[in-house]
Parts: sequence; structure tokens; C-alpha cells
Amino acid sequence: MSSNGNPYDVAVVGASVAGCTAARLFAQRGARVALIESRPAIDAYKTVCTHFIQSSATPTIEKLGLAPLLEQRGAVRNSVDMWTRDSGWIVASDDAPYGYNVTRRTLDPALRRLAAETPGVELLAGWSAIAVRGGDRPSGVEIENRAHDRKQLDARLVVAADGRDSKLARWAGVPGRVKPHGRFFYWGYWRGLRPATTRSKMWLLNPDCAYTFPMEDDLTVVLVGPHRERLPEFRADLEGAHRRMVDGLPDGPALETGTLESKMIGKLELPNVFRPAARPGIAFVGDAALAADPLWGVGCGWAFQSSEWLVEETAEALLDGGDLDTALDRYRRVHRRRLLPHYLNITDISSGRPINPIERHLYGAAARDPVVKRAFEAVGSRRRSPAAMFHPRVLAHLARPA
Ligand SMILES: Cc1cc2nc3c(=O)[nH]c(=O)nc-3n(C[C@H](O)[C@H](O)[C@H](O)COP(=O)(O)OP(=O)(O)OC[C@H]3O[C@@H](n4cnc5c(N)ncnc54)[C@H](O)[C@@H]3O)c2cc1C
Repeated sequence: MSSNGNPYDVAVVGASVAGCTAARLFAQRGARVALIESRPAIDAYKTVCTHFIQSSATPTIEKLGLAPLLEQRGAVRNSVDMWTRDSGWIVASDDAPYGYNVTRRTLDPALRRLAAETPGVELLAGWSAIAVRGGDRPSGVEIENRAHDRKQLDARLVVAADGRDSKLARWAGVPGRVKPHGRFFYWGYWRGLRPATTRSKMWLLNPDCAYTFPMEDDLTVVLVGPHRERLPEFRADLEGAHRRMVDGLPDGPALETGTLESKMIGKLELPNVFRPAARPGIAFVGDAALAADPLWGVGCGWAFQSSEWLVEETAEALLDGGDLDTALDRYRRVHRRRLLPHYLNITDISSGRPINPIERHLYGAAARDPVVKRAFEAVGSRRRSPAAMFHPRVLAHLARPA
């Protein structure tokens, strides 16, 4: 029971990808959910994102009932072709499972409305969590609106879905492990690039990188991710440096065929952070649990998936008066088992170190051998663990001479 008489099973802080997913799935299991979001507008959306959602998240997107809404709005079914100097193009198979390319301007309002319309969810938009209630074991949150009105919400479970710099983690004393990032990112949105394509492309230029992601409404994100050493060059002439880098991409986009629809957006500091995804009374989902290098387009997908895992592991204990903290520990372990191997691989590459000989061999094999390519695609789209590359059949194909 909250101090103002509202019994909540769950208080979810943050109504973006992770929070809305957790709120809707908990409520569909019968929970009473407070969904607390600082931004007052229901159609607010995140701008610092490049909108490639991995196919690992498609089952969750379908379970939410979100897939038809995205399709109606023209979201692009995605996969990605990857280029390296040693391999040339590793062309994604046409029958590979798809995720979605869809701007956050489309995604966030659709998902938030879906969550807010779910019976059992109460969206508190324009309210910010300002403290975690309870002592060692969180038992709710204190929230405040822009008029400085305050409310105390009690809940059996607090869910931190408050993003990369999670304040709830700080208040609850759950620090993350941080690994530095060796690159920075600049991107813009072009409309009408020709020839039109729905294929996403990624270039590993060793050590720089770049990608182009086509979206709904004929928009394409064109991003460059240079090594940190090139920061002075970009600071001196941002648009010129972006343009020169894109013009140098093998089979890169012809920017002169389209119109730049945005200013150039940059993100210079992107440390990788991983924290235990649960402690007694509190769970972390999405970026609040794990914020990794965006180069691999994993954050939204893992925000969907981690929330689904949380609900799967804890809903029964939460609603039937079972042992919630044991269930939370199960979620922590699922999160770690599913994501830590990917995280270690991603953070190693995000340091900006050169591509190593084993990776060179792997990329070359993925470009010419269908068995290696299928395994590489399943790992890269995060549907399978990196351990899938050590399957005996894949190793046998990797051992074949070029
Ligand atoms: C440059 C860049 C490019 C990216 N590109 C991709 C990509 O191509 N594909 C991909 O999958 N991911 C990408 N990501 C990552 C992706 O944007 C995040 O992983 C994703 O948004 C995480 O969702 P989330 O719900 O966990 O957190 P967020 O989307 O960050 O949402 C957190 C929410 O919590 C709210 N909030 C915060 N504090 C409080 C509080 N105290 N009280 C109430 N509300 C609060 C915020 O207002 C916000 O709505 C990119 C990230 C960056 C930086």
C-alpha cells in the first residue's frame, strides 16, 4: 500500500524501452504497476540513438503486441551487411531472422501508449523518482513533479529502468563495473538517399567504423565512429570530417542524392557499464543494468529482453506471495549468463584496439562460408552466445583454408 492509499506490486522508474516493456508484461500477469517517468509528454522520445533493434528482441516485440504497430508505421525489417578490409562484404542472408530499424520518434510513443493503456499500469508522467524508500531492502520510491509536489509510493518490487546513468543504482548502492570506450560517434539523418535500399551496412575500418541504417519515411542514419585520436580533426571541421569519412567508405552512401534533415549529433563519451541486475527488493533493466558500446546496436534489444526475463523470473513470486528475492537472484543470473559473454566481447572491441589475426580469419571465413556466416550472424544479432562460434561444425569450417 502506498502512503496515499495505492497498493502497487511494482514501481517502475523510467518509461522508455525497458520500463514500458516491464510495466506492460508485469500488468499482463496481473500486477498493479506504477510507471514513473520524468518527461511529462506521452509522446516524448530519446534522441541519442541510431535505432537498429537486433533480431534477438523480435520475440519480445511480438509478445508486447508492438510488432504490428511498428510495421504499420513503416519500420524496416533489418539485418546488416558488414565490410572489413580483409573480408570485403559479409552479406547478410535473406532468410536471416529480422529485427527492426525504427526511429525512436516512432517507437517510444507507440510503446509508451501501449504500456499506459494496459489495465493495471498507472503512468505517472512528469514525475521523477528522487529517492529509494526503505533501508537495505528497497520498498518503494519517493517521487516529485515539477510543482515540487511529492508522493511516497510503496511497492514490493522497485524496477530501475532509468537508463545509462541510473540514479536508482546510486541510491540503492549498486555500482557498475566500467570499461572505457576508445571511439566517439557523429551522425545525421538523410532523407531520400538513392539508390533506395532497406539494407543496413556497417564498416569495420580498423580502428574507425561507420554504419548506415535505413528507417521508415525514407530516412537513413549515417554514423561515423572514429578512433579517439581523430577528435581534433572533427572538432576543427565536424561536417567536413564526417563527409570525408563517408565519402571514403567502400560502396558508401551517395549523400548528394539526399537531404540532410538534422544537425550533426555527437556522442563523445560512452563508457561501457555492467552492474548486477538485481539485489533484494530492486531490479535493473535495460541500460540501467548494462550500457554497452552502441556500435553493435544492442541497447534497445537488450532493454526489451531484460525486462521480459525479469517478468518471467519474478511475476509468480511477486503475485503469489512467494520468495521474491530468490526470484530476483534468478533474474540476475539469467541476465549475466545471457549478456556477460556478449558484453566482454563488445567492450574488448570498443577499446579501439586493432582487429586481431583471429578476427581477420573469422571475418574472411564468414564472407565465403555459409556455415560460418550463419553462426557469425546469430552471434552478431545476439540470438546466440559467442560460444556458438566454438561449435565443432563451425570450428571445422573455420579450419578450412581460404
Ligand atoms: C549514440 C548512441 C547510439 C545508439 N544506437 C543504438 C542502436 O542503433 N540500437 C540500439 O538498440 N541501441 C542503441 N543505443 C542504445 C539505446 O539508446 C539504449 O540502450 C536504450 O535507449 C535503453 O533503453 P532504456 O529504457 O534502458 O533507457 P532509456 O531509453 O535511457 O530511458 C530511461 C528513461 O528513464 C527516465 N528517467 C531517468 N531518470 C528518471 C527518474 N529519476 N525518474 C523518472 N524517470 C526517469 C528517462 O526520462 C527515460 O525516459 C544507442 C545509444 C547511443 C548513446
